[in-house]
Amino acid sequence: MLNIVLFGPPGAGKGTQSDKIVKEYNLIHLSTGEMLRDEIAQATELGKQAKELIDEGKLVPDKVVVEMIKHLINLHSEANGFIFDGFPRTMAQANALDHLLTSEKTSISGMISLKVPKKELISRILLRGKTSGRSDDNNEEIIEQRIKEYNAKTAPLEGYYKKQDKYFPVDGVGKIDEIFERISKVINRLQD
Ligand code: AMP
Repeated sequence: MLNIVLFGPPGAGKGTQSDKIVKEYNLIHLSTGEMLRDEIAQATELGKQAKELIDEGKLVPDKVVVEMIKHLINLHSEANGFIFDGFPRTMAQANALDHLLTSEKTSISGMISLKVPKKELISRILLRGKTSGRSDDNNEEIIEQRIKEYNAKTAPLEGYYKKQDKYFPVDGVGKIDEIFERISKVINRLQD
């Protein structure tokens, strides 16, 4: 199996690049952000609880996202592999993911970390906010809070994968196709 963690702060281009990666490499795309937005759209109890945190730019509890990911990994145990987008976001989630994959007799092949300067992240998210309909994309204070959560709780995961020799930084600035080419070079190496 080819299992990629596509990593980076909000606005780094994880969703855009995931769409291209799943097509090229026939992987299952697992985005916890999209799953949570689906729950909100369906007005489930989980969605209502998640919305409050998402609207404040805070992370939802580990247990919630780990359960969603667990369900989908089990459902697609015959897949070619997975692309994890926006997950894991904490050390507890990274540990849980390793356990889940071990129980499926597989593991993370690599973490691809998209590098984008903060100023560009904010302008990209504000631009996306004009059409995304996402309440967390329109307010600069909330965007700052999301980046703060990323720096405090998520960025340290680079070290977690570095220790396992699975960390691959990629320049996330440029044209979408250029960035995809950089990512593909890493994935092709991981496949060899
Ligand atoms: P995203 O679409 O990945 O930017 O996620 C949007 C929001 O959903 C985040 O700001 C968090 O509030 C929540 N979220 C998504 N994925 C996770 C995760 N793995 N852990 C905790 N919260 C998450």
